[in-house]
Amino acid sequence: MLRKTRLFTPGPTPLLPAAQAAMASREFHHRTADFRALYTRVLEDLQMFIGTGNDVVLLASSGTGAMEATVSNLTSPGDRVLVLSAGKFGERWRDLAKAFGCAVDMVSAPYGETFATEAVREKLKAVEPRVLYMQATETSTGVRHDVAAVAKLLRGKDTLLVVDGITGLGTTELNVDGWGIDVILGGSQKALMIPPGLAYLAVSERAWKRMESARSPRYYFDLRKERKAAEQGESAYTPATSLVAALAAALDYLRTVGDGEVEEGRKALIANAELAAEMTQAAAAALRLKLFAAQPAAALTAIVPPAGVDAGVIVRDLRENFGAIVADGQGEMKGKLFRISHMGYYDYIDTIGMIGALEHAVARAMRPRHIEIGAGLSAAQALYARAESFIEPKKPRGRARTSDD
Ligand SMILES: *Cc1c(COP(=O)(O)O)cnc(C)c1O
Repeated sequence: MLRKTRLFTPGPTPLLPAAQAAMASREFHHRTADFRALYTRVLEDLQMFIGTGNDVVLLASSGTGAMEATVSNLTSPGDRVLVLSAGKFGERWRDLAKAFGCAVDMVSAPYGETFATEAVREKLKAVEPRVLYMQATETSTGVRHDVAAVAKLLRGKDTLLVVDGITGLGTTELNVDGWGIDVILGGSQKALMIPPGLAYLAVSERAWKRMESARSPRYYFDLRKERKAAEQGESAYTPATSLVAALAAALDYLRTVGDGEVEEGRKALIANAELAAEMTQAAAAALRLKLFAAQPAAALTAIVPPAGVDAGVIVRDLRENFGAIVADGQGEMKGKLFRISHMGYYDYIDTIGMIGALEHAVARAMRPRHIEIGAGLSAAQALYARAESFIEPKKPRGRARTSDD
């Protein structure tokens, strides 16, 4: 059959057509009233998307730039910080904090698992870190971490809580202000449905205050400079104007999906990822494939290939025969798992189509052993039918509908 290329990688993810059109259709100069209005609206909508009253700043960088900014802006050389790590992105926190001269303590869990709350509690008793760094979801293993439980342990303490929500935002509910997350950061190429190149952070008053005394070197990623510029609808340096236009369109799309509210759109996006993840998990179970993650996230599903099969074989089959791009394992996990994204712009047909293709790829890789073709699809279909029967049909509202409705 013909092949359409489709991204199922946990970043970058499929692009929203309206965002692509927005990128291509305008030429902006950033020091104009037009652009200032757009920039201001994007920052306000991002607050709704994140679900926070905290000030949001936008950076022209990939997600790691925002991670670095939370180290350079919030620490001084020699500061004790605690990193919770169970994968490649947790290790990135460790490496970043070390690069800025922090004294790094770790609570680690094996790849595929999450840390025990008790171990974090014990460590906090022993070290009193200035900052605790963690992921909401660890994209290298597909694991969901318990941010609420960690936030609870920090209540009443001076320790700032910094959460890499790059694949958590838009796939899982994070009560940023209620739980007391001091900084949460995200990237454009995950649930927001636009290309890589933008990162954003929501920062609490406590964290802004910490920046006054933090002495680590910073220049481009000086968050206070960005906050000040943002008050005027500007960025400190030349912004990625076309990506900002794309982001505005993506947030508008969420507003439409949410019947006029970006927050409702975010909830719908999360429910969408959850259902796609559950369908994929059910299919994997029916095909007797193990999940890599003990606590799977909705952002992506990490699947262990059948015994004796390298994950790369399945990744290649999906790409060559179906145009479906999925991710192999990262680093030493290469070959041991493959990862299918549910973040952002995926619908029912994408999800079912992916599962159907997966059955063929797994069947080919296992020859002469067999799997039951259709078992995964059947499980996913049954799950979808059950889930949809609980969703109330949308009642039309008494407002003018846009052409996207
Ligand atoms: C994608 C991702 C990042 C950021 O990576 P960049 O390549 O710098 O955008 C950071 N953390 C997690 C958990 C991610 O999934």
